[in-house]
This record gives sequence, structure tokens and C-alpha cells, in this order.
Amino acid sequence: MANVRLEKINRIYNNVTAIEDISFEVPDGEFWVLLGPSGCGKSTILRTIAGLETATSGNLYINNRLVNEIPARQRDVAMVFQNYALYPHMSVAENLAFGLKMRQIEPQIIQERVHKVARSLSIDRLLNRKPKQLSGGQQQRVALGRAIVREPQVFLLDEPLSNLDAQLRDDTRAELKKLHQRLNITTVYVTHDQTEAMTLADKIVVLDQGKIQQIGDPQTVYAQP
Ligand code: ADP
Ligand code: ADP
Repeated sequence: MANVRLEKINRIYNNVTAIEDISFEVPDGEFWVLLGPSGCGKSTILRTIAGLETATSGNLYINNRLVNEIPARQRDVAMVFQNYALYPHMSVAENLAFGLKMRQIEPQIIQERVHKVARSLSIDRLLNRKPKQLSGGQQQRVALGRAIVREPQVFLLDEPLSNLDAQLRDDTRAELKKLHQRLNITTVYVTHDQTEAMTLADKIVVLDQGKIQQIGDPQTVYAQP
């Protein structure tokens, strides 16, 4: 587990300010949601935490260490995207195991972790299938599983439910909530959907045009007109 702290983060793309003066701290084990309309800067913040973008200015700390000073291999951050990119030629089990194999973890431990994660996401009966033999919801569960099987310190999710139909979205959202209650991985979750934010968040960061409008717990934020 780890806390994540942003201090006065700015990101400017060729004269366009995508995010401005972003400061907040996600404590160890909490689930925070970045909420706001398309273009308000949610993904830019998430991608900055992930190390996929470099802030134009400001400081980012993970586990109280300045991120620039953490070697890439030690940045123990896992990200799940809207478009779950599974390896099409690999089975579900192989998809889940891939990141662990790359880290040269013992085969027996890989097996155990893959099965545990598969059970917790109710995909244990799908382990021998290929991605194209799965529904969209099942594929997204595999994508979630592939990220958490590594047991990252920080879990980042960018609109992970938006490609699912309404029923699956509700189910997967509930699944995610249970998963977090069980694992307590520090999580930052991006969405434009208020219901998702309300159900999942310990704290909601409301963004508008690249700036923080407010930070609060779901009750307080929702009470705003
Ligand atoms: P959101 O995730 O809330 O939809 P983004 O973080 O994707 O918002 O984008 C925030 C703003 O930054 C938008 O105005 C977007 O057009 C701009 N932006 C994002 N990425 C880039 C980029 N690579 N180049 C130029 N502008 C970008
Ligand atoms: P989202 O809203 O889910 O972030 P977008 O379609 O806004 O998705 O962005 C997808 C990708 O395009 C991101 O990598 C983002 O950085 C980039 N992007 C977004 N806006 C711009 C832009 N105005 N110019 C160049 N790249 C952009």
C-alpha cells in the first residue's frame, strides 16, 4: 500500500493548460474518484500518476517519495483503461499470469495468485478461454484481474466500466467495491458518472476545466446544487 500526493501539478500541451494547480493526497488504502465532464483533465491527472505523462510543473509523491527519484521498475502502479487490451492469442490464465512471469515470480506462486484473483472476480471458469470467446464484461474483469494480480501499491482506473451495458456496469461496479474492501489497494478512479462516484468513493475530487472545484465525501459533494 502507499499514499499518493500531488502538489501543485500543472500540465500544459502546446499552450493549452490541461490541468492547473492540482493538489490532493490519497491516503493509504483509500478509494478516490476524479469526477467531471469530458475534457476537464481527469485522464491527464491519472496518466501523470501512472508516469505516462510528465507534469509541466509540480511534484508527485508515491509512498512519500518524489516519483522522479523512484526507478521505473519500483513504481508499483497498475492502470486499467477503458479499452481493455488483452493479449488475443493468450488464454485468460496466460493473460493474468503475464505480468508476473515478466517479473520472474515462481510458477507455483503465479498459479496461486492467478486462481485467487480469478475466483475473486468470478472468472475462474473462464481461465482456458481466449479473449474473443468472452463477453465485454468478462473481458473487462480479466483486465481488472490482470492489473490486481500483481498486487500493486496503487491502482488507477480510467472509466473502466464505460464500455459495458447497464446491467454489467452495475455488477462490475459492485464487484470492484467488494474487491477494494478486501484488498484495500490505494485507488484513483476516473469517471464522468456521478452514480459511480457516489457508490465507490471514499472521497470525490470534482474537476472542471482543469481545476479542482471541490474535494469531499460522496454525501457532501452530492449535496451541492
Ligand atoms: P478528461 O479525461 O477529463 O476527458 P483529458 O485529461 O483527456 O480530460 O484532457 C484535458 C484537456 O487537455 C482537454 O482539453 C484535452 O483536449 C487536452 N489534452 C489532453 N491530452 C492532450 C494532448 N496529448 N495534447 C493536447 N491536448 C491534450
Ligand atoms: P478521454 O476523455 O477518455 O481521456 P480522449 O479521447 O480525450 O479520451 O483522449 C484520448 C487520448 O488522446 C489521450 O491520450 C489524450 O492525451 C489524447 N488527447 C486528448 N485531447 C487531445 C488533443 N486536443 N490533442 C492531442 N491529443 C489529445
